[in-house]
Amino acid sequence: MPAITNHMPTAELQALDAAHHMHPFTTNNELAERGARVITRAEGVYLTDSEGNEILDGMAGLWCVNIGYGRTEMADVAARQMMELPYYNTFFMTTHVPAIALAQEITKLAPEGLNHVFFASSGSEANDTNIRMVRTYWAEKGHPEKTHIISRKNAYHGSSVGSGSLGGMSYMHAQGGMPIPGIHHINQPDWWGEGGEMTPEEFGIARARELEEKILELGEEKVAAFIAEPVQGAGGVIVPPDSYWPEIQRICDKYNILLIADEVICGFGRTGNWFGSQTMGLRPHIMTIAKGLSSGYQPIGGSIVCDEVAEVIGAAEFNHGYTYSGHPVAAAVAMENLRILQEENVLDHVRTVAAPALKTALESLTGHPLVGDLAIEGMMASLPLTPHKESRAKFATDKGTVGYICRERCFANNLVMRHVGDRMIVSPPLIITPEEIDVLITRARRALNETHAELKNQGLL
Ligand code: PMP
Repeated sequence: MPAITNHMPTAELQALDAAHHMHPFTTNNELAERGARVITRAEGVYLTDSEGNEILDGMAGLWCVNIGYGRTEMADVAARQMMELPYYNTFFMTTHVPAIALAQEITKLAPEGLNHVFFASSGSEANDTNIRMVRTYWAEKGHPEKTHIISRKNAYHGSSVGSGSLGGMSYMHAQGGMPIPGIHHINQPDWWGEGGEMTPEEFGIARARELEEKILELGEEKVAAFIAEPVQGAGGVIVPPDSYWPEIQRICDKYNILLIADEVICGFGRTGNWFGSQTMGLRPHIMTIAKGLSSGYQPIGGSIVCDEVAEVIGAAEFNHGYTYSGHPVAAAVAMENLRILQEENVLDHVRTVAAPALKTALESLTGHPLVGDLAIEGMMASLPLTPHKESRAKFATDKGTVGYICRERCFANNLVMRHVGDRMIVSPPLIITPEEIDVLITRARRALNETHAELKNQGLL
């Protein structure tokens, strides 16, 4: 078989990619015309592409490479585990050491009372587990009509039919028959984008009260759970006003509905604590995890489940699971990732060095004429772009046009920043140093200046 390697010319790799590989969230024919960017290797916070460019990864892959690239310990652990036990399942009264060890370690790090883990291979799968788990929980407790789940517009919970239904992305719901029945979406706490004349505090309360209104509309006896990201990630790093989460918690407590915190991005240090729920002061019954659990070195996710729910589910046969639930290689690699995060005090680094440095650095961009605001929580941040800061105005072009231009200018300056609509997102590896943050900001400023010039050229400003 002729080998396809990193040493092949970029154009050849692009042609083969276009011929056979269908990309996620992509207009593939357009990409085939243009040619995909080919990433060949990575080390620390830097990616290398097939043209030899050294690109600073301001997104940690897809918000996941928390410990940075190139950690040989992770490869060593994977190789050892593959030699010892590359695969076995956890169905049929069977278990293995990597799954036991990882479940115990995760529950040690999780908030009190969350002592059980159901494994999956991704955040989407874990949220599908959650849909079935909360409905089964209520059915087992004698409330089979408690099936409705409330989520939020512009939430992201995955791309499978179940998790995509939980998510609140209308462009996803437009394809493939989503959402499934019994999922409802209230408005998000995006003060900058939707707060109008209200203060952030008033707006936070108003948006939280929509949960109460929805519960009353559906009937308390029909609602199983509310699901939300502590800080919305893929929706554009929406940091809710301080008033929001306490009010949501009060409402969940009052009506006795389960709270699912989707920690797929926030978990494992991104907000400076192990979980975003701790940063935002929530008491969830279930937490969805993935991404930072293995720093993306292996596909693994899961649901961390509280004692009460686990006990009720445990009394029934829960007819759910995946071939790769608790996959031994993925579990061993995740365990090594948790060891590195703990032994190298990565969360301390986030709290005392990286997050303050990132905040100061990004604040220096808020004087730029295009930057309307800075939303930041730990190591996740966004800069909404605007033609007029004071009025928080939107651009006259289609939403996302300006964000896209800026993202392309970032790439041209060897920086990965993602755009969500016209918000620019930063979510780098947690191990990033202040010097590397300086590089990130220098490149981001250049990209913003070039975006400004291009908007003027195109008559968009
Ligand atoms: N939940 C959240 C909050 C996410 O950000 C994501 C992925 N971006 C998911 C779930 C889905 O995870 P996956 O892509 O691993 O299925």
